[in-house]
Amino acid sequence: MSQLEWAARVSHHAYTNLGGADYGVRWLELYELADEPQGAAGEFADLFPYTEDLEPGRHPFGAFYARRSVTMRIEPAILLRRLVQDFQMAGGTFVVRNFANLSEVLALRESTIFNCTGLGAAALFGDAELTPAKGQLVFLPPDPAVDYMTIGGGKGLLYMFPRTDVVLLDGTFKLGGYSMQPEPDETERIVTEHQRLFSRFG
Ligand SMILES: Cc1cc2nc3c(=O)[nH]c(=O)nc-3n(C[C@H](O)[C@H](O)[C@H](O)COP(=O)(O)OP(=O)(O)OC[C@H]3O[C@@H](n4cnc5c(N)ncnc54)[C@H](O)[C@@H]3O)c2cc1C
Repeated sequence: MSQLEWAARVSHHAYTNLGGADYGVRWLELYELADEPQGAAGEFADLFPYTEDLEPGRHPFGAFYARRSVTMRIEPAILLRRLVQDFQMAGGTFVVRNFANLSEVLALRESTIFNCTGLGAAALFGDAELTPAKGQLVFLPPDPAVDYMTIGGGKGLLYMFPRTDVVLLDGTFKLGGYSMQPEPDETERIVTEHQRLFSRFG
């Protein structure tokens, strides 16, 4: 836990310094919605400023209990492109290749190697503990008027993040799911539950 806390604080500090349109990092209000009052805030509560619990009637989301806070929203398409540019401007180069096994990795002449092969590490490093978690997204056309995020407010896991390119709806987390295929039932649930949530809005 102390390693995770250290990583969370280093990461929070780094992204705070990247705020702005150039890197696709922006502070936004987040509403966590639940049928019951929510318990005490979890770990790292101080990283979520302006946290306030709002009872039904004190927010626009109908009968839910809402926990409002302010947090960073990161747009991966902007951030990742920009990080690639920064790396190249600093003299870095990319070499795209496949590593069939560990000896091919160890044959590299570089003295420092970061293992960031994601799920590929399971085969490459014989990591039997590595478990995939499958998710899937629904993209709607962008709406600049939506300047807040929601989590919860319906059946199962749900969240809505506005981005400049899309409004993203999400809500699946399936441990052990290696399949890359979107599931139509999940798409249906994510859209229908968000429709129900936003039909109560206002
Ligand atoms: C639906 C969904 C939504 C998500 N939303 C968010 C979000 O909003 N915010 C967020 O922070 N995270 C989100 N995540 C999680 C995020 O995508 C991952 O945490 C992140 O991509 C992990 O990055 P990584 O670089 O560690 O691994 P990866 O992105 O998996 O990259 C690993 C790379 O290693 C390469 N590789 C693997 N094996 C080999 C090999 N043998 N030889 C050569 N190359 C190899 C792969 O091709 C790949 O390019 C989401 C994930 C999903 C599925």
